Amino acid sequence: MSEENLKSMNDLVAMCKRRGFIFQSSEIYGGQGGFWDYGPLGVELKMNVKNRWWRAMTLRRNVVGVDSAIIMHPETWKASGHVDGFIDPLVDCKNCKARFRADQIDLSASCTNCGESGTFTEPRDFNLMFKTQIGPVEDSAATAYLRPETAQGIFVNFNNVQGTMRQKLPFGIAQIGKAFRNEITPGNFIFRQREFEQMEMQYFVKPGVQMEAMEEWKQARWKWHLDNGLRSDHLQWEPHGPDNLAHYADAATDIEYKFPHGWGEMEGIHSRTDFDLSQHQQFSGKNLNYVDQLDGNKKYIPYVIETSVGLDRTILALMCDAYRLENAGDKENERVVMKFHPKIAPIKFAVMPLMKKPQLEEVATKLFADLQENYLGEYDVAGSIGKRYRRQDEIGTPFCLTVDFDSLEDNSVTVRDRDTMTQERISLDKVKSYLAERL
Ligand code: ATP
Repeated sequence: MSEENLKSMNDLVAMCKRRGFIFQSSEIYGGQGGFWDYGPLGVELKMNVKNRWWRAMTLRRNVVGVDSAIIMHPETWKASGHVDGFIDPLVDCKNCKARFRADQIDLSASCTNCGESGTFTEPRDFNLMFKTQIGPVEDSAATAYLRPETAQGIFVNFNNVQGTMRQKLPFGIAQIGKAFRNEITPGNFIFRQREFEQMEMQYFVKPGVQMEAMEEWKQARWKWHLDNGLRSDHLQWEPHGPDNLAHYADAATDIEYKFPHGWGEMEGIHSRTDFDLSQHQQFSGKNLNYVDQLDGNKKYIPYVIETSVGLDRTILALMCDAYRLENAGDKENERVVMKFHPKIAPIKFAVMPLMKKPQLEEVATKLFADLQENYLGEYDVAGSIGKRYRRQDEIGTPFCLTVDFDSLEDNSVTVRDRDTMTQERISLDKVKSYLAERL
């Protein structure tokens, strides 16, 4: 048997549309660049990944969650540096009007879109934050922004959370939510979008111990990606050197995944010192000091280790990693199979009566209802069994359970394994425990 990994993003985009994972946003109007919609299977996959992250964070005794508003007080973004600093320099081609990020092209070369040379405008600054306004009056006083990251909703709630949850350092605050960036060059499917979801955690520590905490979180986050099923040779660390380290950070590294278009950042783990809380203290005039009862009631602003992972990029990595084309070119035996880890697979099982016959359907419907109490499954009775298996392979369903005429005699079903395609007979009353062991 031959097996190939995903070669081109187009194959994945096509599969996602064909099977209901991800659709172009507003497709019937021609779509909108940089925006995507998750379909029925995509949203299940997303929920599974979100839940795994949420549990990995909040099942620790010292990490709690928040869900803060997307539109925050505009001062937030002055304090965080986004109003002045969240800027990409842009150039336009005077000939074809194509727009580029100045740092991503060679300004002395010809336009990569139309081929004209010497046609670029001077670089102009472009702020990546989406603007909106609060209330009916369109004046500058009412200007607000859609958040470009979820982290600031955590920082501004530092006092609220610390006080109400009686947390002592070190402790963390986690949040999952939408973020918006008016990216100039969205692309590579859901890798770079204008609306996306982040899963961020800020871990507050006593100044001086941040490097230990950073090490701890680096290990934890790497392991999380492996536990989701990503192959370790498709992951790498990308530490920030002195030239690309943010001015306030004292250490930073990214976890990169080997996407079909190349290595790309999936998660950042950053030691941000006391920068964010100090800025908010200064801009808000509110005291954000922590009183350390274990150290003679000393007052100080905690240091922060941030773990910031893109939910969509994690999903993209998981899909790229799971995608296999087996027996390419061999019409009979070719199949696309999404080898998702069973824990993240959107559909856990499929029940298939061999044929549309009342006796078979009676057993199958009962089995389906029984299993569906614990796991999300599909009931499929349409088409040849081979076609039905192919569909389940392509959406990554780990187990298919077939009810045939023998089932009526021996009270057993055939369980087919997605990856090995091996089949075994399991007695109906054992199916639940069989799945429980493997899911
Ligand atoms: P990049 O360099 O790719 O623009 P970044 O360094 O600006 O990313 P961060 O600000 O560190 O990204 O955001 C944290 C995480 O949020 C990233 O690791 C990524 O997974 C995700 N992310 C950032 N921008 C986007 C986007 N436009 N679309 C989808 N996910 C994104």
